Amino acid sequence: MLLKGKVAIITGASRGIGKAIAKSFIAQGAIVAFTYRSSEEKAKELEKELTSNGGVAKGFKSDASKMDETELLIKEVLEEYNAIDIVVNNAGITNDTLLMRMSEEQWDSVINVNLKSCFNLTKSVLRTMLKARSGSIINISSVVGVQGNAGQANYAASKAGILGFTKSVALELGSRNIRCNAIAPGFIETEMTSKLDEKTVQGWRDAIPLKRGGTPEDVANACIFLASDLSSYVTGQTLNVCGGMITA
Ligand code: NAP
Repeated sequence: MLLKGKVAIITGASRGIGKAIAKSFIAQGAIVAFTYRSSEEKAKELEKELTSNGGVAKGFKSDASKMDETELLIKEVLEEYNAIDIVVNNAGITNDTLLMRMSEEQWDSVINVNLKSCFNLTKSVLRTMLKARSGSIINISSVVGVQGNAGQANYAASKAGILGFTKSVALELGSRNIRCNAIAPGFIETEMTSKLDEKTVQGWRDAIPLKRGGTPEDVANACIFLASDLSSYVTGQTLNVCGGMITA
């Protein structure tokens, strides 16, 4: 029970990596507030699953790219649980195409959901964490943010932006015992990557030293580490969860 009694907010948890993080946090004794944008049905199912064995959890419909919805989320979570100890900025989308064809809308939507969302939630939760003089913020980036990827200029920019944001927040808030780290997953088998064609997927797998795609649970395990006191001397870092796809 590494997270016993800690209140965690996880964005974008109706499926995939966010859902795995929510389940693993509950298993470690955390109280989980999770968000989704449109998958109401899946969110209700997850809420049921998380609470079925006495867990404390609630789903909130909240668009992570919108500051007003995020501020309302924080207010509601505080009313419900009276504390926020952990934030996982996980919500993310892709909208891939070559730069030549990329519309302004494709650029803006990916930057807003993936990067601005981190600003929205981190800024909104700050007062609560400053008062408590503790907190752990985990931002889900991507190896694509470290390396770049053809056809994903918008996504790569958003994920690289998260890394700069993470380091800056860690520097600003370390003295208040608020830690901020990023996770850079490699190729993780979720609905997001199921859109890729088999040839591309095989290409990714071939390039991975561990010769398999990652699971959402692989990322969730890294989140438990960064959320818990096991990582109490770790801040401003990027943990690559990528089967060795990148080594720096
Ligand atoms: P996914 O299966 O597509 O799930 C995305 C989740 O985000 C869904 O629950 C979705 O909920 C939610 N979401 C999307 N837009 C949102 C918004 N504006 N506000 C709130 N929630 C929103 O994706 P995933 O593969 O689990 O990815 C999770 C995170 O890991 C993302 O940040 C992604 O970039 C990152 N990542 C993934 C991989 C990978 O290989 N899968 C690799 C590196 C990094 P709704 O359905 O309700 O919209």
